[in-house]
Amino acid sequence: PADAAPQGTGRVLAIANQKGGVGKTTTAINLATALAAARKRVLVIDLDPQGNASTGLGINAGQRDPSSYDVLMGEASLAEAIVETDVPGLAVVPAVVDLTGAEIELIERPARERRLRMALGAEGLPQYDYIFIDCPPSLGILTLNSLVAADAVLVPLQCEFFALEGVSQLVRTVDRVRRSLNPRLDIQGVVLTMFDNRNNLSNQVAADVRNFFGDKVYKTVIPRNVRVSEAPSHGKPVLLYDHRCAGAKAYIHLAGEVLKRERGVAA
Ligand code: ADP
Ligand code: MG
Repeated sequence: PADAAPQGTGRVLAIANQKGGVGKTTTAINLATALAAARKRVLVIDLDPQGNASTGLGINAGQRDPSSYDVLMGEASLAEAIVETDVPGLAVVPAVVDLTGAEIELIERPARERRLRMALGAEGLPQYDYIFIDCPPSLGILTLNSLVAADAVLVPLQCEFFALEGVSQLVRTVDRVRRSLNPRLDIQGVVLTMFDNRNNLSNQVAADVRNFFGDKVYKTVIPRNVRVSEAPSHGKPVLLYDHRCAGAKAYIHLAGEVLKRERGVAA
């Protein structure tokens, strides 16, 4: 049935937070790269019309046809939209700005919230261990498609004053999707991003988030690191741009924690 979990696709993790600029795309790119470096087969599906994950993985405009937009509109399969990156074992389904229109165009389509899930279940998709979905900064139909397609959500939270305010809305949305369209949906974890240890506010917010989410919060904290922010303009994950910087090391640690939790799930 169309509602069965997509078979043989590996684990599908949506990277979501309706706030922009919290580190979703950076986490998608670098966590995916760290897992590929650990010899996992990884796919990133770029579901943000801004296409930052595609750009950050070195995919140029000419390589984005078909794109995730065509997949959602039923005009291409996921397999057809896959582009290999320079990172061995890491592929991406790129995004183009047309995706902005999908929020409206999909309203008219049947199974509008299940289109990505159906695409993941289609035959011909290569085997992946992990599929990350980089969500746009909203809780519209695109993010809903990811939550319906995903096994679990990974929530990046920037250590700033209103971090927890927006996230309660995301948690309610996850609960709602679990009750209606995707009973297996879980929160894989919450990752604190752009952490500045010298900043009291960063420390206070981190403490509040750990209080609220308990062990859902990864021990690994991603520090604010200029190398992390420079890497995308070179079309490279920070692990390739400067693998020794603090940001790269943090993402490698995070990948280790994610794998550990995933093994817990599989057991
Ligand atoms: P989102 O996808 O949630 O909108 P991004 O991952 O694009 O957020 O991050 C927003 C901005 O912050 C980008 O310019 C990115 O390069 C920068 N950034 C993200 N993580 C870090 C970090 N750990 N250190 C420094 N800059 C970062
Ligand atoms: Mg983004």
